[in-house]
Amino acid sequence: MPVVRVDSDRCQGHARCLAFAPDTFDFDDEGYASVPEDRDSYVEIPDSVRQAAAGCPERAIAILGDTAS
Ligand code: SF4
Repeated sequence: MPVVRVDSDRCQGHARCLAFAPDTFDFDDEGYASVPEDRDSYVEIPDSVRQAAAGCPERAIAILGDTAS
């Protein structure tokens, strides 16, 4: 099953991913993104998450194990 990850070393906290997929990404008090464990795997990655990954200027969002793309 594909999973979504945020590379915390790359994330710069501009929160664009929140605009695309607020049901997937979470943020700490300083605005850095993460994906809680209970939201990180999908039978099919939602378009909103794909858009968030494509729109992340730091390329900090990875979709792993995705065979649909
Ligand atoms: S868009 Fe990318 S860099 Fe910005 S908060 Fe989200 S994961 Fe981090």
